[in-house]
Amino acid sequence: MKIIKSDLQAMAVSPKQYPYDELPEIAFAGRSNVGKSSFINSMLNRNNLARTSGKPGKTRTINFYIINDEFRFVDLPGYGYAQVSKAEKDKWGKIIEEYLITRKNLKEIVLIVDIRHEPTSQDLIMYQWIRSYGFTGYVIATKVDKISKANWQKNIKIIRNKLDIKDTNLIIPYSASKKINVEYVWDGFTSILGI
Ligand code: GDP
Repeated sequence: MKIIKSDLQAMAVSPKQYPYDELPEIAFAGRSNVGKSSFINSMLNRNNLARTSGKPGKTRTINFYIINDEFRFVDLPGYGYAQVSKAEKDKWGKIIEEYLITRKNLKEIVLIVDIRHEPTSQDLIMYQWIRSYGFTGYVIATKVDKISKANWQKNIKIIRNKLDIKDTNLIIPYSASKKINVEYVWDGFTSILGI
């Protein structure tokens, strides 16, 4: 995939702040610190377009990145900070659900998990949400560079069992640091986006 241009187009907490045009979108969900920003940056060949986190309490917005003036990546706020209040969590849920329910542009929502860890119960809830809205249920298992290749399949099986995924091919090993499977994922995305 040739990325000519990528820009942050909008940061939104409610539908009236979403971009108005009809460009297709792929959205990304995942726990905070899972490597979601790094995934987006590595796919776009950028270092700091999506803000890499580390810090709790970073703004909980939906960020829309416009790519080649043709389609968008949508970064949903990361979940799972223990320190976050119940009110904050409710707000987060509402922001994401509103996007999922109302957004006509949304072609696919992809869950990002860390290949090293069994998905959490919040990942499971998110994944069930994704499936219940009729999306395919692709999972990017990132940070594969942190384990030996011999262990990839074992860990993918753990993810598969926890999320109750029938088709293993839906789980794609990935590394942002080592750029593993960037082109493979783009092949899938271009077909999802119809570009
Ligand atoms: P986010 O909160 O989900 O956006 O997570 P970040 O993208 O900020 O990543 C969290 C931490 O994991 C950062 O220290 C990243 O450098 C690191 N990280 C993310 N992806 C990878 C990867 O593929 N490999 C390795 N080794 N580290 C990664």
